[in-house]
Amino acid sequence: MPFTRNYHTHTYRCKHAKGDVSDYCREAVAQGFTVLGMSDHTALPDNRWLGVRMDFRELPGYCKAIDDAREAFPELAVLKGMECEFADSYTSFYRDTLLDELGFDYLIGAAHFFPLNGEWVGSYGGADTAAGLRAYADYFIESMESGLFAFMAHPDLFGNCYHTWDANTASAAEDIFSAAAALKMPLEINGYGLRKPLIDTPEGKRRMYPWLPFWELASDYDVTVVVNSDAHRPQDVGSNLSEAAAIGKRYGLQFADLDHLEARCGKPEIV
Ligand SMILES: [Zn+2]
Ligand SMILES: [Zn+2]
Repeated sequence: MPFTRNYHTHTYRCKHAKGDVSDYCREAVAQGFTVLGMSDHTALPDNRWLGVRMDFRELPGYCKAIDDAREAFPELAVLKGMECEFADSYTSFYRDTLLDELGFDYLIGAAHFFPLNGEWVGSYGGADTAAGLRAYADYFIESMESGLFAFMAHPDLFGNCYHTWDANTASAAEDIFSAAAALKMPLEINGYGLRKPLIDTPEGKRRMYPWLPFWELASDYDVTVVVNSDAHRPQDVGSNLSEAAAIGKRYGLQFADLDHLEARCGKPEIV
């Protein structure tokens, strides 16, 4: 069965992706998609980590690009989302400004950065020790507990720098799965990881993520998964969805339904 939905899509505004909302919509329609969730790296009121996200001043333009696309592509449900790092200081911005005031349909939680020994570190490289991995897992769980997010992106991102599957990775993964199951929080098997170069590890070459032992262990827990392309180029809007889904199927994981996100979708009112 072909995939017709993707909830994880970036625009040029994050500075490491290409194309704008309309370019992704055109491609999604051409590929027979029914739902396209835009989820660029969120603007932040203090412009923190600006190198990998839109400037705060670009937020209205991002919203307008999505609103315009909804009119231009009525055959496609275009959802307004953001991919967000959790922090207490951003809770009000995420909940009150994005979700309530600006009518965002959903937010994705993602741990691209996490606090370690009182300082924020990047997840690319920062989770390469037992202490770093533990801090990553604790932060990931705290993000889920915030209740702000519809699902969590690439939970196994730590596989980019923690190279051996061992008791530490198993413990981090088990805690993430226990919390995700209790909170009924879907975890994403991320298609972008499947398009990235392989890395060398003591266990041989493999993807940074999805990291297969992580998803194998997930089958011991009552967790649900979603698959997304995490497109950074319009032509990737549907890339690697079937491959990501095959990982979930291989380990007998249960797929979550994100249909409810469309309920908030700002389609024109029919009076
Ligand atoms: Zn991400
Ligand atoms: Zn992303």
